[in-house]
Amino acid sequence: MTSTSKFDSAYLRRVNCVKTFCTIREYGRISRSELAVKTGLSRATVSETVRELLEREFVREVGSEITSRGRPPVQLEVNPLRFYLVAVEIDVGWIVVALTTLVGEILVKHRVEFRTYDYDFVLNLCVNTVAHLLEEQGVRRDDVLGIGVAVPGQVNLNRRVVNFAPNLDWKDVSLANDLERQLSLPVLVSNEAMVAAMAEKWFGRGKEAGVLVYVSVKGGLGCGIVNDRSLFLGVSGSAGELGHMSIDPNGPECSCGSRGCWEAYADEQAILDRAFRALNTSKESPLLHSRMAEKRRLTVDDIVYAASTGDATAVQIVKETGWYLGVGIANIVNGLNPDMVIVGGRIAASPIVFGEMTRVVQERSLKIPAERVCLAPTGLGEEVALMGCIALLLDTLLEQPEGRLNTDYVRAN
Ligand SMILES: [Zn+2]
Repeated sequence: MTSTSKFDSAYLRRVNCVKTFCTIREYGRISRSELAVKTGLSRATVSETVRELLEREFVREVGSEITSRGRPPVQLEVNPLRFYLVAVEIDVGWIVVALTTLVGEILVKHRVEFRTYDYDFVLNLCVNTVAHLLEEQGVRRDDVLGIGVAVPGQVNLNRRVVNFAPNLDWKDVSLANDLERQLSLPVLVSNEAMVAAMAEKWFGRGKEAGVLVYVSVKGGLGCGIVNDRSLFLGVSGSAGELGHMSIDPNGPECSCGSRGCWEAYADEQAILDRAFRALNTSKESPLLHSRMAEKRRLTVDDIVYAASTGDATAVQIVKETGWYLGVGIANIVNGLNPDMVIVGGRIAASPIVFGEMTRVVQERSLKIPAERVCLAPTGLGEEVALMGCIALLLDTLLEQPEGRLNTDYVRAN
């Protein structure tokens, strides 16, 4: 996908296809001439691209009834229930499987929790949950164009193998092939932050962005970078691991072997560690102490909620986290000159974190990139990675000459 030259015809064809499809999806119903205006493509290119989308049954023609004012132009819309896509998000201790339409509407989703790192167990859980979902919804396999899977780890360039997922304790597992073999459907696997970046570009706040960076703050911290419409993968597929950018060379040792990595100061574990340290040394946070007294694990949501009620200790914890997030994002702003940085995760929903982060980014970034960058929390909530799986599937499908997702084609590219 990224290896194609920006100027070759396959790339242009794909850009035109994606642009046309997205515009039809965005407007609901639109005529060919309106499409030419909205996309900036020539009438001939629009006709050719629409013909291809019609042939593949991704879109359909509607409404050309004769009225008193004559026959209105034929409208185009995404074929709503002709095909389906399946999105799977795997994280530590849970999976979510969703069935969606081609417009990215989630029809139904199932969440299943588990307490193991065992790859075969999680693989079987994914297989059974997808199979159950399709059966329950009465969806034929032939009508499912593909399965997109998001994982918190590094995935190889061909989207087949999870090379390293430290939080799941997985190394070099052939997740895509294993799922394909058992489900008889084409599968693409990608990193969670990468697909989240695609979700923002396709469905979220980054539709107009030229260079978009998504910062995923969860059990770890990872980023996805979208340049124009393409994910930036790097030569091995692992680009965006900015959580392992060292912000303190003398800081604590990280699981990656380096020291003082950004994620050690800014991910969810860092927030919890900060809270435990504060609670061990202070009795000034009645709210957080009462949560601890309930003898259940303190969560990031508890801390964010306590901060929102004005609990001074919690405010200090989330502010400090916002400060560290800002330091890392300032490095990203200086290094990549993005026009949009979108932050996802439960912590990003806190206005206190967001305010502090924004202040630090403006204070520490160089003037020129700082003037252009817009910071925003994700508007896609906890479904951002699922939506990203849909974007990944659509992006790959529209790139391919056949109507079906051919993962051999992805492998060869
Ligand atoms: Zn690290």
